[in-house]
Amino acid sequence: MESEEKWGSAMDMRVETIAACLAAMLILLGIRNIQLRRAAYLDSVTQTCNWTRFQMNVRRLCRKKCSGCYVMVSMDFRKFRVISDINGELCSNAMLKQAAGVLRRKLCRWERFARFSVDEFAVLMKCKDEAQAVERVREIDAALRSQELLEGIAFYYGIYRITDWRMSVMQMYNYAGIARDCIKNSHEQCIEVFDESMREALVREKVLECHMEQAIREGEFLVYLQAKYRADGSGIGGAEALVRWVSPALGFLSPGEFIPLFEKNGFITKLDLYMLRSVCQLLARWRSEEKELYPVSVNISRAHLSNPMLAQGIIHLADAYGVPHQYLEIEITESAFLENKKTLPKIVTQLRQAGFSVSMDDFGAGYSSLNSLKDLPLDVVKLDAEFFHYKENNKENRERSESIIRDTVRLVRHLNMKIVAEGIETGEQVDFLRRIGCDYIQGYYYARPVPVLEFERLAECGQT
Ligand code: C2E
Ligand code: MG
Ligand code: MG
Repeated sequence: MESEEKWGSAMDMRVETIAACLAAMLILLGIRNIQLRRAAYLDSVTQTCNWTRFQMNVRRLCRKKCSGCYVMVSMDFRKFRVISDINGELCSNAMLKQAAGVLRRKLCRWERFARFSVDEFAVLMKCKDEAQAVERVREIDAALRSQELLEGIAFYYGIYRITDWRMSVMQMYNYAGIARDCIKNSHEQCIEVFDESMREALVREKVLECHMEQAIREGEFLVYLQAKYRADGSGIGGAEALVRWVSPALGFLSPGEFIPLFEKNGFITKLDLYMLRSVCQLLARWRSEEKELYPVSVNISRAHLSNPMLAQGIIHLADAYGVPHQYLEIEITESAFLENKKTLPKIVTQLRQAGFSVSMDDFGAGYSSLNSLKDLPLDVVKLDAEFFHYKENNKENRERSESIIRDTVRLVRHLNMKIVAEGIETGEQVDFLRRIGCDYIQGYYYARPVPVLEFERLAECGQT
């Protein structure tokens, strides 16, 4: 009996121990589970929900066939990497926490946010339309800027109104990001709302990028020539090479459709060298056919101007085709003169010493470069067509414009440079330019940019 009791109490103890162990294991598992959940769904810096959790929350809202209108906002710190580099990791983490705190306070019950990447936040807001969304983003922006650590920091935002809930959360966020990227370099604007044209422009860019390498291999970029006429009436004095893309897949494209993209993605350096080579080949052919040689100018993008070997490259190319250097003119746009104050004088000097002409294109189109004229000895200044766009029927405006053109021509000639007026479309403008002593005139009044063969016919006819 006694042994039975002993055995029974030993059993109880064992059961209790096992139960206690099980309980401990369950607690541990629970804690572990909580820890796992935290690791999976919490952002380690802001201690708020992370992107994975955010996507789940947004999907849950979708399943409820959300009533009302929602917008996705992409919010980004401007220059966060620099700020982080200056202030250190601790401080930049504190800034991110403060930003998350503001978002938490500013959002309502059915709204969500999460940190998307280092300094980007995704915010889902309920708004009746885009105007209200912009208004609320402005309020959030003001609240962010009033934070101690965020004072003086700039944010920029893209807004996408969710119209199709079948779309992935990532796609919604991408659209908000596309809108935000459109204002990335603007200092005046910090909020942009997505519209379909932004997506179309990006798709178009992608299509062009897919075709560009093959296009250069297959010779789809063509040299068109626009004649420059001597203002004294003695005919064509030269030409400008302007690129045209004639693609079997995309059709006929003008530079305005692809040059800005190529300047962004760097392909412009390839294209400019291709144009230079094509012009050298053309001049070499004219020479071998004993045709009259006209100086041809080639546009060189600012992307080349950080290359200290640019002048050597051009010399090498011209010599490879036996082109006398005085027949090649390099056009550099006015704004590049302001941006490359260190490298440009060297490049210009090397080119001029080698016998090429160098011109400042679009003079007067942007920030006027009178200082550049002082600092750089150039051969040609190309007066931008903008000078001739005076207000219709406004006599005073027209007289002022003419006065500026007259004095600019005088100044340029006084500095021993030639002057070309661009974009000239009327006989009246031609008469005026002749009277004031302009050297060359380029514009639709005389000739449009045309394929090489057509230019040759024009030159043979000696049309004026
Ligand atoms: P740009 O170098 O200032 O060339 C003058 C532009 O004005 C040309 O436009 C020309 O067709 C246009 N134009 C000429 N006369 C008239 C006129 O009387 N009226 C009007 N409305 N326009 C006139 P295009 O060919 O579309 O070229 C635009 C710009 O694209 C060029 O401006 C140049 O900056 C750039 N570009 C063209 N080809 C090349 C190239 O091979 N390389 C680089 N980097 N840029 C190029
Ligand atoms: Mg030009
Ligand atoms: Mg120009």
